[in-house]
Amino acid sequence: MRMVPPGFAQGDSRYSQKMVRFTVLSSGSKGNSTVVTGGCTRILVDAGLSCRELFKRMKAAGEDPAALDAILITHEHQDHINGLVVTARKLGVPVYFTEMTHRAWMRLVEPKRTMTYGQWLEARKADAESAKDEGPGASDAEAAGLSDETVEPTKAKPKKDPSWLPKVEYFSPGQAFQIGDIAVSPFTIPHDAADPVGFVFQAEGVRMALATDLGYVPPNVKACLKKLDLLMIESNHDLEMLRDGPYPWNVKQRVLSRVGHLSNEATAEFLEADYDGGAAHVILGHLSEHNNLPELARVAAERALAGRGSLLGNRLQLAPQHEAMAPIEF
Ligand SMILES: [Zn+2]
Ligand SMILES: [Zn+2]
Repeated sequence: MRMVPPGFAQGDSRYSQKMVRFTVLSSGSKGNSTVVTGGCTRILVDAGLSCRELFKRMKAAGEDPAALDAILITHEHQDHINGLVVTARKLGVPVYFTEMTHRAWMRLVEPKRTMTYGQWLEARKADAESAKDEGPGASDAEAAGLSDETVEPTKAKPKKDPSWLPKVEYFSPGQAFQIGDIAVSPFTIPHDAADPVGFVFQAEGVRMALATDLGYVPPNVKACLKKLDLLMIESNHDLEMLRDGPYPWNVKQRVLSRVGHLSNEATAEFLEADYDGGAAHVILGHLSEHNNLPELARVAAERALAGRGSLLGNRLQLAPQHEAMAPIEF
């Protein structure tokens, strides 16, 4: 059990917020979502499940949905954004995208959109102006009254606009930025989306990386995945299972391509040849339900790690699709 620091009563919410935590809510082609907690800040990375399911899994893992400060999006594929609009509106929190991902996402949610991007920018400026006039506090009150039944958007206007979000923030790959107590370093990954990224998160000296949905591990990603305390990396498919499996030929080609997904074999190769072995926790993620078996992914990674004497301390886990993983705490 953790010691309660002086000045904090047991159960004091200020105390319980003070730690670094990585909680995978879901991982795989049916939905991806992770909560990263550092200091007093909580970030939801991707919102690939329905809002209701996200909140249910957060509660099951001991995470409070109302305490989320922001949502961060890796890329616009459905399994990463499925619950985004409802979740962001319910929480009234900002959503962080790259500009290209945001634009691609807007095209997806509004295929018949008549507003041009320029018009959207104008509308966004006008929103910011009217928010200034209204003053602060409104969204906090709503977050505090949060429940599964509350679907009140922070302002009345958005209902008609399917891409309306309480607040949009842009970041650029390669440029670190701060959300509260968490430093976020986004890096480009090779994947068939508009501007896909992985992240390194740093809080209280703990470094955690999330890299799924990538066709191979290029040098810039190898460079980012060093000196980590936690590494979550994709181990999507077994090459033989994919080749012999049920997917149509063109889908197989897509998955196998340089902008598809990492195979067990490719992940093992990275772990063996390029990974520095320093992370106390290694999580394999985005496992395919059709083209992989958890044991195949595990054995490939274990074999790769076992080849390195210094890596015996690594704890290897598989991120599940259908339930939240127990939070990893530092
Ligand atoms: Zn994807
Ligand atoms: Zn995905």
